[in-house]
Amino acid sequence: MTGFETRAVHAGQDPDPVTGAVVPPISLATTFAQEAVGRHRGYEYSRSGNPTRAALEACLAALEGASHGVAFASGLAATDAVLRTLDPGDHVVIPVDAYGGTYRLVSRVHAPQGITWSAADLSDPGTLAGGWPERTRLVWVETPTNPLLSIVDIAATARIAHARGARVVVDNTFATPYLQRPLELGADAVVHSSTKYLGGHSDVVGGFVATSDDELAQRLRFLQNATGAVPSPFDCYLVLRGVKTLAVRMDRHCENARAVVAMLAAHPRVEQVLYPGLADHPGHAVARAQMRDFGGMVSFRVAGGEPAAIALVERTRLFTLAESLGAVESLIEHPARMTHASAAGSALEVDPALVRCSVGIETAGDLVADLRSALDSLDAAGGAA
Ligand SMILES: *Cc1c(COP(=O)(O)O)cnc(C)c1O
Repeated sequence: MTGFETRAVHAGQDPDPVTGAVVPPISLATTFAQEAVGRHRGYEYSRSGNPTRAALEACLAALEGASHGVAFASGLAATDAVLRTLDPGDHVVIPVDAYGGTYRLVSRVHAPQGITWSAADLSDPGTLAGGWPERTRLVWVETPTNPLLSIVDIAATARIAHARGARVVVDNTFATPYLQRPLELGADAVVHSSTKYLGGHSDVVGGFVATSDDELAQRLRFLQNATGAVPSPFDCYLVLRGVKTLAVRMDRHCENARAVVAMLAAHPRVEQVLYPGLADHPGHAVARAQMRDFGGMVSFRVAGGEPAAIALVERTRLFTLAESLGAVESLIEHPARMTHASAAGSALEVDPALVRCSVGIETAGDLVADLRSALDSLDAAGGAA
């Protein structure tokens, strides 16, 4: 197999056989001419199959080292398709700090349809080994997690789950295949919100599942067509365009995150920095072993609790106050009241002193100065002066 960057630029994207175009055409046709009844060139109707989408699926599957890739209209549509492979009565284990939308989808859409679920702290694989709910068919992993950036040992989790007959699915949105390839570590499938780093420019919503499990792939392909949550050809093109620069963007995201973390760790208004690249992070050793680098997401607890955290996220200028993550521009948010508001009152509730940053690819010194001046503006008692 060729190198990651080569696959990102070329996989699924040979020059167009008709015109030689080096960029796959955005195929807008909804239907495709048939030479005879049932005789066609692989495409019949654009929900069932589309050439631009096929190029995207081939490219992303190659990046994850998977035999199959199935693209969806959003990360949650991809997650939904994976959950639909379960039967009523099956149990799914989700992480205690799962992405808020994943928690909502499991607890409020699939649970009422008969799936059972529990939340576990998967950063300690022993928890899983010790408390295995009956009929567990799926263990849902995020690593690094959102927003606490804790680390889950993918290989250890896969060993425990496989010994008991469950599949492991890793939401690889935060790490991207450039930093971490879960299938190589034993996971059965990888899910992405391509809205984030894969797209990388805050201009497209998309989702993706990669797997080398033929049976699971066939089921997902069926669900993609049967439920119809497919991405548009234009959206597929945008993600394909985004991933060409994934490796270079990720290198810069990681480098800038390191600069931001160094400033935060030394700032008196910051009580704790959560970043797997820090030597004192509990998941540091595992992250070192299973990731190429530590990513662009940084969370921290501000002295002064919720009022200080809210004041801070409203005072940065370069870091834009917004949900989402993983694009070229830096974003800042308050998880307890924004991305994780739906977890309020549950086991997944987030500390209101927590702030989450998606560190972009702007000049590192500008990002550090912006965050520092917003932190400096909080009063000496740690409040929101
Ligand atoms: C955004 C996100 C999702 C959901 O993806 P959408 O494209 O917004 O539907 C799932 N998991 C993680 C980790 C995310 O950040």
